[in-house]
Amino acid sequence: MHLKGIPVEIHISWLLIFFLFSITLALSYFPTVAEGLDSSTYWLAAVLTTLVVFASVLTHEFGHSLVAIREGIPIKKIVLFVFGGVAQMESEPKSPAAEFKVTAAGPLTSMAIAIVTAALYYLFLSSGQLIGEAVLFIARLNLIMAVFNLIPAFPLDGGRLFRSIVWYFGKNILLATRIAVGLGSVISFVAMAFGFMLIFFQGDLWGLWLIFIGWMIYQAGQSSYSQLIFKETFAGMKVSQLMSTDLQTVSPDDSLEQLAEYFLTYKYGAFPVVYGSTTHGLVSLQNMKKVPREEWSENRVSRILTPLKDTLILHPDSDAADVMMKMASLNAGRALVMDNGELVGLLSRTDMMRFMQMHMVLGSD
Ligand SMILES: [Zn+2]
Repeated sequence: MHLKGIPVEIHISWLLIFFLFSITLALSYFPTVAEGLDSSTYWLAAVLTTLVVFASVLTHEFGHSLVAIREGIPIKKIVLFVFGGVAQMESEPKSPAAEFKVTAAGPLTSMAIAIVTAALYYLFLSSGQLIGEAVLFIARLNLIMAVFNLIPAFPLDGGRLFRSIVWYFGKNILLATRIAVGLGSVISFVAMAFGFMLIFFQGDLWGLWLIFIGWMIYQAGQSSYSQLIFKETFAGMKVSQLMSTDLQTVSPDDSLEQLAEYFLTYKYGAFPVVYGSTTHGLVSLQNMKKVPREEWSENRVSRILTPLKDTLILHPDSDAADVMMKMASLNAGRALVMDNGELVGLLSRTDMMRFMQMHMVLGSD
């Protein structure tokens, strides 16, 4: 789906929210606040209201997107998922002022919708009446959306606003991000601790939500910080510039005793397994642990290797920052680099980390 030239992606988790919202509204909320109607009316109102909720989240993201475009930052796409949405920008804002404006646009949009719908309710509608209750629900939801997003936990909007202010005064985006992510982590841990306390001392299961949301924010903060560092470090670099090309390979027919010898001789953590021109996979020290030492002589590499289909495979032209992000999220230690089915290199996370350290010491400028 495209809107104003921006691709809009709806994550599958949104369907879950759609059902939860519709069911709760139709079976519980509306029948309680506006009594005496038949169930088909409640369902119709519930589905329509849920669609407006959906439109509200989308409008919030459009608020960010339109200002971003005006600031010269193209939008890759808008993704709607379980907790709302994300407008994915092609690049980070270039100045603290730009980040502040782009970020503020979202909560301001939600706030504007809340004010307009609340005015509509108070001027023309009344409580106990289905349309009135639906409009009031939309107003409250948008208000909650504006306020929730303003919590200063990076990467929520509030955390981004906080970062832009620290960035403005400190003139350093990395430092500002680290401080914003730090504050975000503290807030997430407080939320999680509060959630645990609710569960253990009050028996209140809403605590689970706090733990879940706290954890999600913590994770998102950590990952956006590493993403920023990776982008700074590997700007413009490709996998081919970082991979090792003097490959020491082993054969699937080698015995594990021979393999142990290779490990001791070359001191690599893993070897690509190649026979002729066919790459079979990767064999690492971890694979070796599965077989007891007494059985090394009678077992071959082919028995313990990680097959190609379970190995991370990269293209030499892939963007190094994206790849580092992917390896970190998959917790993959190394990947084979292949071009047209041919093995051309091996990329290990250790090599990339070493490059990052070098980059930090020697600097980029
Ligand atoms: Zn937002």
